[in-house]
Amino acid sequence: MTLFDHPDFAAHEAIHTAYDEATGLKTIIAVHSTALGPAAGGCRMWPYASADLALTDALRLSRAMSYKNAMADIPLGGGKAVIIGDARSQKTPALFEAFGRAVDTLGGRYWTAEDVGVAPSDLACARRTTRYVAGLDGHPAASGDPSPVTAEGVFRGVRLAVRKALGRELDGVTVALQGVGHVGAYLADKLHAAGAKLVITDVNAEALNLVADKTGARIVAPAEIFDVEAEVFAPCALGGAINAQTLPRLKAKVIAGGANNQLASAEIGRAVFERGLLYAPDYVINGGGIINVAGEILALEANTGFDVAWVASKLDRLTQTLEEVLDRAAADGRPTHEVADEMAQARIAAAKRGRLAA
Ligand code: NAD
Repeated sequence: MTLFDHPDFAAHEAIHTAYDEATGLKTIIAVHSTALGPAAGGCRMWPYASADLALTDALRLSRAMSYKNAMADIPLGGGKAVIIGDARSQKTPALFEAFGRAVDTLGGRYWTAEDVGVAPSDLACARRTTRYVAGLDGHPAASGDPSPVTAEGVFRGVRLAVRKALGRELDGVTVALQGVGHVGAYLADKLHAAGAKLVITDVNAEALNLVADKTGARIVAPAEIFDVEAEVFAPCALGGAINAQTLPRLKAKVIAGGANNQLASAEIGRAVFERGLLYAPDYVINGGGIINVAGEILALEANTGFDVAWVASKLDRLTQTLEEVLDRAAADGRPTHEVADEMAQARIAAAKRGRLAA
Protein backbone atom coordinates (compact mmCIF):
# COMPACT_ATOMS: atom_id res chain seq x y z
CA MET A 1 0.00 0.00 0.00
CA THR A 2 1.25 3.46 -0.81
CA LEU A 3 0.38 6.56 1.17
CA PHE A 4 -2.01 7.66 -1.55
CA ASP A 5 -4.03 4.43 -1.18
CA HIS A 6 -4.27 4.75 2.60
CA PRO A 7 -7.94 4.40 3.67
CA ASP A 8 -7.70 7.72 5.54
CA PHE A 9 -5.75 9.61 2.90
CA ALA A 10 -8.82 11.79 2.11
CA ALA A 11 -6.99 13.99 -0.40
CA HIS A 12 -4.66 15.50 2.17
CA GLU A 13 -2.71 18.43 0.74
CA ALA A 14 0.52 17.58 2.51
CA ILE A 15 1.95 15.09 4.94
CA HIS A 16 5.17 16.17 6.49
CA THR A 17 7.38 13.86 8.52
CA ALA A 18 10.39 14.93 10.54
CA TYR A 19 13.01 13.05 12.52
CA ASP A 20 15.53 14.75 14.76
CA GLU A 21 18.48 12.57 15.63
CA ALA A 22 19.67 14.65 18.57
CA THR A 23 16.35 14.58 20.49
CA GLY A 24 14.72 11.47 19.02
CA LEU A 25 11.76 13.53 17.76
CA LYS A 26 9.54 11.58 15.39
CA THR A 27 6.64 13.67 14.18
CA ILE A 28 4.04 13.58 11.44
CA ILE A 29 2.28 16.80 10.50
CA ALA A 30 -0.78 16.20 8.34
CA VAL A 31 -2.27 19.15 6.48
CA HIS A 32 -5.68 18.13 5.21
CA SER A 33 -6.79 21.42 3.71
CA THR A 34 -5.74 25.04 3.56
CA ALA A 35 -8.69 26.02 1.36
CA LEU A 36 -10.25 28.16 4.11
CA GLY A 37 -6.98 29.39 5.60
CA PRO A 38 -3.83 28.07 7.25
CA ALA A 39 -4.35 24.59 8.67
CA ALA A 40 -4.85 24.62 12.43
CA GLY A 41 -5.06 21.77 14.91
CA GLY A 42 -3.32 20.57 18.02
CA CYS A 43 -0.27 18.39 18.50
CA ARG A 44 -0.82 15.01 20.17
CA MET A 45 2.02 13.09 21.86
CA TRP A 46 1.21 9.39 22.15
CA PRO A 47 3.23 6.15 22.37
CA TYR A 48 1.93 4.77 19.06
CA ALA A 49 2.93 1.14 18.58
CA SER A 50 3.95 1.87 14.98
CA ALA A 51 4.46 4.74 12.55
CA ASP A 52 1.50 3.41 10.56
CA LEU A 53 -0.81 3.89 13.55
CA ALA A 54 0.60 7.39 14.08
CA LEU A 55 -0.02 8.20 10.43
CA THR A 56 -3.60 6.92 10.59
CA ASP A 57 -4.29 9.06 13.66
CA ALA A 58 -2.70 12.14 12.09
CA LEU A 59 -4.73 11.74 8.89
CA ARG A 60 -8.05 11.21 10.71
CA LEU A 61 -7.51 14.01 13.21
CA SER A 62 -6.38 16.43 10.55
CA ARG A 63 -9.42 15.86 8.34
CA ALA A 64 -11.64 16.18 11.41
CA MET A 65 -10.08 19.61 12.07
CA SER A 66 -10.90 20.69 8.51
CA TYR A 67 -14.54 19.79 9.10
CA LYS A 68 -14.66 21.38 12.55
CA ASN A 69 -13.06 24.61 11.38
CA ALA A 70 -15.29 24.79 8.30
CA MET A 71 -18.43 24.38 10.41
CA ALA A 72 -17.18 26.97 12.90
CA ASP A 73 -16.98 29.40 9.98
CA ILE A 74 -13.44 30.48 10.83
CA PRO A 75 -10.75 31.31 8.27
CA LEU A 76 -8.69 28.23 9.07
CA GLY A 77 -8.12 24.91 7.37
CA GLY A 78 -7.46 21.60 9.06
CA GLY A 79 -4.24 19.99 10.18
CA LYS A 80 -2.85 18.00 13.07
CA ALA A 81 0.55 16.93 14.34
CA VAL A 82 1.44 13.76 16.19
CA ILE A 83 4.63 13.07 18.05
CA ILE A 84 5.47 9.41 18.55
CA GLY A 85 6.54 9.00 22.17
CA ASP A 86 5.47 8.64 25.77
CA ALA A 87 4.42 12.01 27.17
CA ARG A 88 5.19 10.82 30.71
CA SER A 89 8.83 9.85 30.11
CA GLN A 90 10.08 11.17 26.76
CA LYS A 91 9.34 14.89 26.88
CA THR A 92 12.24 17.33 26.88
CA PRO A 93 12.44 21.04 26.06
CA ALA A 94 14.84 20.18 23.20
CA LEU A 95 12.31 17.73 21.72
CA PHE A 96 9.66 20.46 21.54
CA GLU A 97 12.18 22.93 20.13
CA ALA A 98 12.88 20.37 17.40
CA PHE A 99 9.11 20.01 16.90
CA GLY A 100 8.88 23.79 16.56
CA ARG A 101 11.55 23.68 13.83
CA ALA A 102 9.52 21.03 11.98
CA VAL A 103 6.40 23.23 12.20
CA ASP A 104 8.41 26.23 11.05
CA THR A 105 9.53 24.50 7.85
CA LEU A 106 5.87 24.65 6.74
CA GLY A 107 6.11 28.44 6.79
CA GLY A 108 2.69 29.06 8.38
CA ARG A 109 0.69 26.49 6.41
CA TYR A 110 0.12 24.79 9.77
CA TRP A 111 -0.49 26.31 13.21
CA THR A 112 -0.03 24.03 16.18
CA ALA A 113 -1.69 24.02 19.62
CA GLU A 114 -2.35 21.76 22.61
CA ASP A 115 -3.80 18.26 22.39
CA VAL A 116 -3.55 15.03 24.39
CA GLY A 117 -0.08 14.66 25.95
CA VAL A 118 1.04 18.23 25.18
CA ALA A 119 0.90 21.05 27.75
CA PRO A 120 1.28 24.83 27.43
CA SER A 121 4.82 24.49 28.87
CA ASP A 122 5.73 22.21 25.92
CA LEU A 123 4.25 24.70 23.48
CA ALA A 124 6.35 27.42 25.09
CA CYS A 125 9.46 25.40 24.07
CA ALA A 126 8.15 24.99 20.50
CA ARG A 127 7.51 28.75 20.42
CA ARG A 128 11.27 29.35 20.73
CA THR A 129 11.76 27.94 17.24
CA THR A 130 8.53 28.84 15.45
CA ARG A 131 5.93 31.57 15.72
CA TYR A 132 3.14 29.29 14.49
CA VAL A 133 1.98 28.25 17.95
CA ALA A 134 -1.37 29.10 19.57
CA GLY A 135 -2.40 28.56 23.16
CA LEU A 136 0.30 30.43 25.06
CA ASP A 137 -0.31 32.82 27.93
CA GLY A 138 1.14 36.21 28.63
CA HIS A 139 0.73 38.12 25.36
CA PRO A 140 -2.04 40.48 24.15
CA ALA A 141 -3.27 37.98 21.56
CA ALA A 142 -3.52 35.12 24.09
CA SER A 143 -6.90 33.39 24.12
CA GLY A 144 -6.63 31.63 27.51
CA ASP A 145 -8.59 28.52 28.52
CA PRO A 146 -11.01 27.63 25.68
CA SER A 147 -13.23 25.49 27.95
CA PRO A 148 -15.74 28.22 29.02
CA VAL A 149 -16.30 29.15 25.36
CA THR A 150 -16.68 25.49 24.40
CA ALA A 151 -19.15 24.99 27.26
CA GLU A 152 -21.21 28.03 26.24
CA GLY A 153 -21.49 26.67 22.68
CA VAL A 154 -22.43 23.23 24.00
CA PHE A 155 -25.02 24.73 26.37
CA ARG A 156 -26.69 26.60 23.51
CA GLY A 157 -26.56 23.42 21.43
CA VAL A 158 -28.22 21.33 24.16
CA ARG A 159 -30.96 23.96 24.53
CA LEU A 160 -31.52 24.01 20.78
CA ALA A 161 -31.60 20.22 20.45
CA VAL A 162 -34.11 19.97 23.33
CA ARG A 163 -36.33 22.56 21.66
CA LYS A 164 -36.18 20.64 18.37
CA ALA A 165 -36.62 17.14 19.76
CA LEU A 166 -38.93 17.76 22.71
CA GLY A 167 -40.47 21.15 21.97
CA ARG A 168 -39.63 22.50 25.41
CA GLU A 169 -37.13 24.62 27.33
CA LEU A 170 -34.46 23.25 29.67
CA ASP A 171 -36.41 23.99 32.85
CA GLY A 172 -37.20 20.61 34.44
CA VAL A 173 -35.35 18.59 31.80
CA THR A 174 -33.03 15.89 33.18
CA VAL A 175 -29.51 15.78 31.73
CA ALA A 176 -27.19 12.81 32.27
CA LEU A 177 -23.73 14.36 32.12
CA GLN A 178 -20.69 12.13 31.61
CA GLY A 179 -17.47 13.87 32.65
CA VAL A 180 -17.30 17.02 34.79
CA GLY A 181 -13.81 18.20 33.83
CA HIS A 182 -13.12 21.57 32.24
CA VAL A 183 -16.02 21.60 29.79
CA GLY A 184 -18.43 19.43 31.80
CA ALA A 185 -18.18 21.54 34.96
CA TYR A 186 -18.90 24.82 33.14
CA LEU A 187 -21.73 23.13 31.27
CA ALA A 188 -23.22 21.84 34.54
CA ASP A 189 -23.33 25.40 35.93
CA LYS A 190 -25.15 26.69 32.86
CA LEU A 191 -27.64 23.81 32.74
CA HIS A 192 -28.36 24.22 36.45
CA ALA A 193 -28.92 27.96 36.01
CA ALA A 194 -31.40 27.16 33.21
CA GLY A 195 -33.41 24.91 35.53
CA ALA A 196 -32.22 21.51 34.26
CA LYS A 197 -31.92 18.58 36.69
CA LEU A 198 -28.49 16.97 36.58
CA VAL A 199 -27.26 13.42 37.01
CA ILE A 200 -23.48 13.35 36.78
CA THR A 201 -20.59 10.94 36.71
CA ASP A 202 -16.81 11.09 36.54
CA VAL A 203 -13.86 8.94 37.58
CA ASN A 204 -12.58 11.91 39.58
CA ALA A 205 -14.47 12.03 42.91
CA GLU A 206 -13.21 15.51 43.80
CA ALA A 207 -14.48 17.05 40.57
CA LEU A 208 -17.81 15.25 41.04
CA ASN A 209 -18.34 16.53 44.57
CA LEU A 210 -17.51 20.11 43.58
CA VAL A 211 -20.12 20.08 40.81
CA ALA A 212 -22.70 18.26 42.95
CA ASP A 213 -22.30 20.79 45.78
CA LYS A 214 -22.80 23.71 43.38
CA THR A 215 -25.68 22.33 41.36
CA GLY A 216 -27.43 19.77 43.55
CA ALA A 217 -26.66 17.11 40.92
CA ARG A 218 -27.20 13.45 41.72
CA ILE A 219 -24.02 11.38 41.39
CA VAL A 220 -23.93 7.95 39.76
CA ALA A 221 -21.09 5.52 39.07
CA PRO A 222 -19.42 5.80 35.63
CA ALA A 223 -20.95 2.56 34.36
CA GLU A 224 -24.47 3.66 35.39
CA ILE A 225 -24.67 6.91 33.45
CA PHE A 226 -25.98 5.12 30.35
CA ASP A 227 -29.01 3.76 32.24
CA VAL A 228 -30.17 7.04 33.77
CA GLU A 229 -33.76 8.16 33.12
CA ALA A 230 -33.00 11.45 31.39
CA GLU A 231 -34.10 13.45 28.38
CA VAL A 232 -30.54 14.36 27.42
CA PHE A 233 -27.28 12.42 27.43
CA ALA A 234 -24.31 14.81 27.38
CA PRO A 235 -20.94 13.12 26.78
CA CYS A 236 -18.17 15.38 28.07
CA ALA A 237 -15.44 12.83 28.86
CA LEU A 238 -13.53 10.75 26.32
CA GLY A 239 -14.40 9.64 22.78
CA GLY A 240 -16.51 6.60 21.85
CA ALA A 241 -19.24 7.08 24.49
CA ILE A 242 -21.91 6.06 21.97
CA ASN A 243 -21.23 2.51 20.88
CA ALA A 244 -23.00 -0.79 20.28
CA GLN A 245 -23.00 -1.60 24.01
CA THR A 246 -24.13 1.80 25.35
CA LEU A 247 -26.66 2.93 22.73
CA PRO A 248 -29.34 0.31 23.57
CA ARG A 249 -29.16 1.39 27.23
CA LEU A 250 -29.76 5.11 26.67
CA LYS A 251 -33.17 6.46 27.72
CA ALA A 252 -32.46 9.95 26.41
CA LYS A 253 -34.07 11.47 23.30
CA VAL A 254 -31.17 13.88 22.75
CA ILE A 255 -27.40 13.28 22.63
CA ALA A 256 -25.56 16.58 22.91
CA GLY A 257 -22.26 17.16 24.69
CA GLY A 258 -18.75 18.52 24.40
CA ALA A 259 -16.62 15.40 23.88
CA ASN A 260 -14.80 14.79 20.61
CA ASN A 261 -15.53 11.62 18.60
CA GLN A 262 -18.66 10.66 20.54
CA LEU A 263 -19.75 8.10 17.95
CA ALA A 264 -17.62 4.96 18.03
CA SER A 265 -18.25 4.64 14.26
CA ALA A 266 -20.30 6.18 11.46
CA GLU A 267 -22.56 3.09 11.57
CA ILE A 268 -23.45 3.80 15.19
CA GLY A 269 -24.48 7.30 14.06
CA ARG A 270 -26.99 5.69 11.73
CA ALA A 271 -28.21 3.43 14.57
CA VAL A 272 -28.72 6.54 16.76
CA PHE A 273 -30.88 8.00 14.00
CA GLU A 274 -32.85 4.78 13.50
CA ARG A 275 -33.66 4.64 17.22
CA GLY A 276 -35.16 8.12 16.90
CA LEU A 277 -32.56 9.96 18.98
CA LEU A 278 -31.47 13.46 18.00
CA TYR A 279 -27.67 13.70 17.93
CA ALA A 280 -25.95 17.10 17.85
CA PRO A 281 -22.79 16.36 15.82
CA ASP A 282 -19.85 16.68 18.20
CA TYR A 283 -17.52 18.70 16.03
CA VAL A 284 -20.24 21.27 15.38
CA ILE A 285 -21.58 21.70 18.92
CA ASN A 286 -18.08 21.81 20.49
CA GLY A 287 -16.57 24.30 18.01
CA GLY A 288 -16.39 27.10 20.60
CA GLY A 289 -12.90 26.05 21.68
CA ILE A 290 -11.41 26.28 18.20
CA ILE A 291 -13.18 29.60 17.65
CA ASN A 292 -11.37 30.88 20.72
CA VAL A 293 -8.02 29.56 19.41
CA ALA A 294 -8.77 31.08 15.99
CA GLY A 295 -9.17 34.43 17.71
CA GLU A 296 -5.61 34.08 18.98
CA ILE A 297 -4.16 33.01 15.61
CA LEU A 298 -5.85 35.91 13.80
CA ALA A 299 -4.61 38.37 16.41
CA LEU A 300 -1.06 36.99 16.19
CA GLU A 301 -1.16 37.22 12.38
CA ALA A 302 -2.44 40.79 12.50
CA ASN A 303 -0.25 41.75 15.46
CA THR A 304 -3.27 42.95 17.41
CA GLY A 305 -4.97 42.01 20.68
CA PHE A 306 -7.51 39.20 21.21
CA ASP A 307 -10.94 40.27 19.95
CA VAL A 308 -13.64 39.04 22.34
CA ALA A 309 -16.44 40.45 20.17
CA TRP A 310 -15.27 38.44 17.13
CA VAL A 311 -15.33 35.25 19.20
CA ALA A 312 -18.83 36.07 20.48
CA SER A 313 -20.14 36.65 16.96
CA LYS A 314 -18.67 33.36 15.73
CA LEU A 315 -20.22 31.53 18.67
CA ASP A 316 -23.63 32.95 17.70
CA ARG A 317 -23.03 31.79 14.15
CA LEU A 318 -22.06 28.31 15.40
CA THR A 319 -25.49 27.79 16.99
CA GLN A 320 -27.14 28.91 13.74
CA THR A 321 -25.02 26.36 11.85
CA LEU A 322 -26.04 23.62 14.26
CA GLU A 323 -29.67 24.58 13.72
CA GLU A 324 -29.16 24.36 9.96
CA VAL A 325 -27.74 20.84 10.37
CA LEU A 326 -30.62 19.70 12.58
CA ASP A 327 -33.28 21.25 10.33
CA ARG A 328 -31.79 19.87 7.13
CA ALA A 329 -31.47 16.40 8.65
CA ALA A 330 -35.10 16.54 9.85
CA ALA A 331 -36.37 17.76 6.48
CA ASP A 332 -34.45 15.07 4.57
CA GLY A 333 -35.06 12.31 7.12
CA ARG A 334 -31.32 11.63 7.49
CA PRO A 335 -28.78 11.24 10.30
CA THR A 336 -27.39 14.55 11.53
CA HIS A 337 -23.75 13.46 11.38
CA GLU A 338 -24.05 12.66 7.67
CA VAL A 339 -25.62 16.04 6.96
CA ALA A 340 -22.89 17.82 8.96
CA ASP A 341 -20.13 16.00 7.03
CA GLU A 342 -21.70 16.98 3.73
CA MET A 343 -22.04 20.61 4.77
CA ALA A 344 -18.41 20.72 5.88
CA GLN A 345 -17.25 19.11 2.63
CA ALA A 346 -19.33 21.59 0.62
CA ARG A 347 -17.85 24.57 2.48
CA ILE A 348 -14.30 23.33 1.85
CA ALA A 349 -15.04 22.57 -1.80
CA ALA A 350 -16.55 26.04 -2.31
CA ALA A 351 -13.46 27.67 -0.80
CA LYS A 352 -11.23 25.59 -3.11
CA ARG A 353 -13.24 26.67 -6.14
CA GLY A 354 -13.06 30.28 -4.98
CA ARG A 355 -9.30 30.02 -4.62
CA LEU A 356 -8.92 28.50 -8.08
CA ALA A 357 -11.10 31.20 -9.62
CA ALA A 358 -9.18 34.02 -7.89
P1 NAD B 1 -10.98 17.19 31.00
O1 NAD B 1 -9.88 16.20 31.01
O2 NAD B 1 -10.87 18.43 31.80
O3 NAD B 1 -12.36 16.48 31.45
C1 NAD B 1 -12.68 15.17 31.12
C2 NAD B 1 -13.33 14.57 32.35
O4 NAD B 1 -13.80 13.26 32.02
C3 NAD B 1 -12.35 14.40 33.51
O5 NAD B 1 -12.89 14.98 34.69
C4 NAD B 1 -12.18 12.89 33.63
O6 NAD B 1 -11.95 12.46 34.96
C5 NAD B 1 -13.52 12.41 33.11
N1 NAD B 1 -13.53 11.02 32.67
C6 NAD B 1 -12.55 10.32 32.05
N2 NAD B 1 -12.94 9.06 31.82
C7 NAD B 1 -14.20 8.97 32.28
C8 NAD B 1 -15.15 7.93 32.34
N3 NAD B 1 -14.88 6.71 31.84
N4 NAD B 1 -16.35 8.17 32.89
C9 NAD B 1 -16.65 9.39 33.39
N5 NAD B 1 -15.78 10.43 33.38
C10 NAD B 1 -14.58 10.20 32.83
O7 NAD B 1 -11.24 17.53 29.47
P2 NAD B 1 -12.12 18.71 28.87
O8 NAD B 1 -11.22 19.79 28.41
O9 NAD B 1 -13.26 19.01 29.76
O10 NAD B 1 -12.66 18.00 27.55
C11 NAD B 1 -13.72 17.05 27.61
C12 NAD B 1 -14.02 16.54 26.22
O11 NAD B 1 -14.36 17.65 25.39
C13 NAD B 1 -12.85 15.84 25.51
O12 NAD B 1 -13.37 14.85 24.67
C14 NAD B 1 -12.24 16.97 24.68
O13 NAD B 1 -11.55 16.44 23.55
C15 NAD B 1 -13.50 17.70 24.25
N6 NAD B 1 -13.28 19.10 23.88
C16 NAD B 1 -12.79 19.98 24.79
C17 NAD B 1 -12.63 21.31 24.43
C18 NAD B 1 -12.12 22.34 25.41
O14 NAD B 1 -12.25 23.55 25.15
N7 NAD B 1 -11.56 21.93 26.55
C19 NAD B 1 -12.97 21.75 23.14
C20 NAD B 1 -13.51 20.83 22.24
C21 NAD B 1 -13.66 19.50 22.63
